Amino acid sequence: MSRDNSAGAHILVFPYPAQGHMLPVLDLTHQLALRNLTITIVITPRNLPCLTPLLTAHPDIQTLVLPFPFHPSIPDGVENVKDLGCTGNVPIMNALGNLFDPVSHWFHSHPNPPVAILSDFFLGWTLRLAYHLNIVRIAFFSSGSFLASVFEYIWYHLDEIKSGSAIQLHKLPGSPILSEEHLPTAVRLYKRDDPQMEFVKEGLVANFSSWGCVFNSSEALEGVYLDYLKTTMGNDRVFGVGPLSLVGLNLTNRKDPGFDPSDSVFEWLDKCPDGSVLYVCFGSQKALNKEQMEALATGIERSGIRFLWVVKTGFTGQADGKYGLIPDGFEERVADRGLILKGWVPQVAILNHKAVGGFLSHCGWNSTLEAIVGGVMILAWPMEADQFVNAKLLVDDMGVAVRVCEGAESVPDSAELGGIISESFSEVGQVKIKAKELKEKALAAVESGGSSYRELDRLVQELTGLQHVE
Ligand code: UDP
Repeated sequence: MSRDNSAGAHILVFPYPAQGHMLPVLDLTHQLALRNLTITIVITPRNLPCLTPLLTAHPDIQTLVLPFPFHPSIPDGVENVKDLGCTGNVPIMNALGNLFDPVSHWFHSHPNPPVAILSDFFLGWTLRLAYHLNIVRIAFFSSGSFLASVFEYIWYHLDEIKSGSAIQLHKLPGSPILSEEHLPTAVRLYKRDDPQMEFVKEGLVANFSSWGCVFNSSEALEGVYLDYLKTTMGNDRVFGVGPLSLVGLNLTNRKDPGFDPSDSVFEWLDKCPDGSVLYVCFGSQKALNKEQMEALATGIERSGIRFLWVVKTGFTGQADGKYGLIPDGFEERVADRGLILKGWVPQVAILNHKAVGGFLSHCGWNSTLEAIVGGVMILAWPMEADQFVNAKLLVDDMGVAVRVCEGAESVPDSAELGGIISESFSEVGQVKIKAKELKEKALAAVESGGSSYRELDRLVQELTGLQHVE
């Protein structure tokens, strides 16, 4: 995208330290820097290396490095969710709240302090900070606007949630229905008398009183929910600027540090017919248990479809049998049509390979966007967090996915799973067609003149205007 030469307002960017949150906000920051805004990024020491590519590309970006605040349930030296897993979110969100005073002191001693804080939606307390500093706060959502709409509704209707039953989100477009166990984890964990959860809730609610909201999503993907949020927030400062990975730094190489086109994975994929391979991966944090591994292996085997299965190893518990291993003899039996990969794989490059026709996914938001950009249909097995909400969007709204299983502990029926996989691959059905159509729309959105491109321009214009606010 082109560089804008107008004098840039000073923006304080505050990322949340988890991979899925950090990468998109840094992609956005890259675009803001290209458009000549003055930027300072708040970061703690151990997360500083994540900024290296961005700071190398934009030496003008400043950092405000602050010590990670003490929290009794966070071990010394841990500053990122990846070191604790999903359960680390509540303590990390609470701990970071203690940066209120240090940021405030820095602000008051700065000769040209920022006019706005652009912070992750897990840092909702920064709205209070922004009020205190008499500047505005913009909430950055690394996830979609359907999820945000669910949050916006649910916090005001907690009394409608009944254990084990469904809740209808009346105000939302199409009045979607979600079962209690499919609500976002933060809602399910919430207890009125728990101060840490109260802090989490207050932050998530504060997002919708912020001056603006920015989404790693786009009009083509979630236009109705972006519009819904504009209505509920009472202004149009709701911006869909994604998929940000398409306009970030170094693109494929950055996302896929291990990507080497001559790698055996790509040699293997090169030999497979177009659209014939099922890619199976459940994100960066999830390992399956023994029963799940066996059911999945049997289902894949029964489908008769070519596959590439990423099996996560090295999690605590794998050695003592809590997590499953590949069933004995499976690899040998399917050697002519399947590849099992252990550890980390270059997912973006795999999803963009023409041999890959389907993605059995847990529906994390990054995987969701990557599948859409790859034009690949999704076989959805949501497990936790925002994944049920994402899967609902993919299946019911977008029509680019089919459900194959639901729940972190659920064991799929192998015969049914095998049947769905082979059926989805054997015909050129609506799901495949819609996935290809959505890819074109997602790519067009970030091109010059596309909706996300225009929204980014509009965001920069609004931020630039803030310079003059007293
Ligand atoms: N990923 C990858 N290789 C792997 C596993 C995951 O590149 O072997 C990347 C994937 O491309 C995505 C991210 O890790 O960008 C996972 O994020 P997502 O939001 O889908 O799920 P989470 O890991 O947060 O549950």
